[in-house]
Amino acid sequence: MAATRIWIKNPLAIFTANDLDACGGLVIEDGRITEVLGAGQQPAAPCQQVFDAREHVVMPGLINTHHHFYQTLTRAWAPVVNQPLFPWLKTLYPVWARLTPEKLALASKVALAELLLSGCSTAADHHYLFPGGLEHAIDVQVEAVRELGMRAMLTRGSMSLGEADGGLPPQQTVQQGEVILADSQRLIEQYHQRGEGAQIQIALAPCSPFSVTQEIMRASAELAEALDVRLHTHLAETLDEEDFCLQRFGLRTVDYLDNVGWLGPRTWLAHGIHFNPDEITRLGAAGTGICHCPSSNMRLASGICPSVELEAAGAPLGLGVDGSASNDASNMILEARQALYIQRLRYGAEAITPQRVLGWATRGSAKLLGRRDIGELAVGKQADLALFKLDELRFSGSHDPIAALLLCAADRADRMMIGGTWRVIDGQIEGLDVAKLIADHRQAARELIAG
Ligand SMILES: [Zn+2]
Repeated sequence: MAATRIWIKNPLAIFTANDLDACGGLVIEDGRITEVLGAGQQPAAPCQQVFDAREHVVMPGLINTHHHFYQTLTRAWAPVVNQPLFPWLKTLYPVWARLTPEKLALASKVALAELLLSGCSTAADHHYLFPGGLEHAIDVQVEAVRELGMRAMLTRGSMSLGEADGGLPPQQTVQQGEVILADSQRLIEQYHQRGEGAQIQIALAPCSPFSVTQEIMRASAELAEALDVRLHTHLAETLDEEDFCLQRFGLRTVDYLDNVGWLGPRTWLAHGIHFNPDEITRLGAAGTGICHCPSSNMRLASGICPSVELEAAGAPLGLGVDGSASNDASNMILEARQALYIQRLRYGAEAITPQRVLGWATRGSAKLLGRRDIGELAVGKQADLALFKLDELRFSGSHDPIAALLLCAADRADRMMIGGTWRVIDGQIEGLDVAKLIADHRQAARELIAG
């Protein structure tokens, strides 16, 4: 029997993340896009389902390339509301060390649901906390991703440099190198899917220069090379971090990255703010990706990512919301708005257009994750779609639908399709009791803070 053909017909506006004319809409078959229709064009063969998109702005599902799902339990926590990165981390570490599998499951589901409703179809998470009892943290996250039907790049994070050895995190939150590497290998073998349409992928992600040893950085790079998975870490987020690298390693951050074998196209970095021109050239030449996290960078007053210079040098650029203790929202379409505004402040209004920023959130982010099958609308790509309606008060009187999404602050998708399946309909996630999830998650957050 032939697969069902779905026509997403005549959208109000469509952003393809390439220059294709798709005014007539898209035909979806077997989870992929099989036709891109220009203005006035009809599908080549009959479609069993026709979705009239005349009230919808259609775009590729947004791709979030940096998060810490567990932090949804510590949003807007008074002791850290007004702290910069290092004191913020030191105050939060002991709380996070009490994380349990049950709490992580709830936190992950909340973050994923929130992302999904904001237009996100693929989410990366950076999980680096494995206290006693939470050795199977990534397995817990795999379950949450499957429940929501999203795609995910779950990164096996790690911390191996505790306070006793000159690092930032308390000793009870760090793991031995052998344990980290054995679990990394297990997770890749158990869950990492390759090829088009992959739902779950694994990457290796030692946390940051101030929380891991150089040995684990090098060993992770070797393992990633051997098993062909990607590498992720935080880098050049704050000047405190730069000072730490200079004092401990006698190296600036990019020299450190190079020194541990990470300066290459397999790597994508969260933040990437404090680079000099020579470092930007080297990152671009290496094809190392940068995940820009505007809200977090403003919240912690870390700095502004040099996006235009990085792109000009050849470095892939994507977007991320970052963890919920430093954003504190997991909203991808609002994050694109933040990127538009902070980057305009640096580069001017003409250089930073809504289309450029949406390109970072889709095609650029896909590149960071090493994926060619998502992030744009074209024949052969996965049918991952975000559909927004412009029927709320905030959009009334707007003219350019694509610009209106960012300028009028769209915050919620009306529909989400992932791999050809509708996961959000009329602003509601299929099969998820959101009220119960919020009630359970709030209780878990209270317990975690109470200790
Ligand atoms: Zn982060």
